[in-house]
Amino acid sequence: MGLATALAGGAAWAALSPESQIFGKTLIAPPRPADFALTFDDGPNPKATPRLLEVLARAEIQATFFLIGRFVRQCPELTRQIAAAGHLVGNHTMTHPWLAWQSESRIREELSGANAAIEDVLGAQVRYFRAPHGARRPAVLQMVREMGMIPVQWNVICNDWNPIGVDAIVKRAVRGVARNQRRGFGTNIVLHDGGQAGLGAERMDTVRATERLIERYAGMRFVRVDAWEE
Ligand SMILES: [Zn+2]
Repeated sequence: MGLATALAGGAAWAALSPESQIFGKTLIAPPRPADFALTFDDGPNPKATPRLLEVLARAEIQATFFLIGRFVRQCPELTRQIAAAGHLVGNHTMTHPWLAWQSESRIREELSGANAAIEDVLGAQVRYFRAPHGARRPAVLQMVREMGMIPVQWNVICNDWNPIGVDAIVKRAVRGVARNQRRGFGTNIVLHDGGQAGLGAERMDTVRATERLIERYAGMRFVRVDAWEE
């Protein structure tokens, strides 16, 4: 492998690996192995988010939702319901592009557009951000910080945007939680109650998997990611 290839590979890893800190510090999970943050990306989604809110309410658990700005514009009432139930709402850009490859002006538009959409509906400042696909570069993280937001990654991902079924989602989650606990860290799981392609994505398997994870890990402390702010 040539040096250029190795460097390009390293840069791709730094930009895309959810746990890489090379392009700037991101919030993942602290060394508290009993902490569990459920986070949901790509909503709001009228086809799954209301059911998910019911599941969380029954268990009296607060989660974190990284919303896509254009869906917030289409579903202001559902966005209000998420926040009113005590969940934390974060920015997941306006249209879900791969930010690592965009111009700075486009990145700024994506970040500020989603903040404006959410803040118009909730009347509160957005303080957390998750990059679509986890993809970022130093300019993205710098802009996120300049806008007063904390970038958040994850340490468990379950492929739940593909139709793999409830059992497979849960199995991946369980493996991830066990790995985090072996390493002495809390769990920050990313699940998807929506789909970037448009409203109405089929995500009931994610809702059912969430219900099973809540039962299985009833002894853990479910937190919003702002419980981890340094
Ligand atoms: Zn996403």
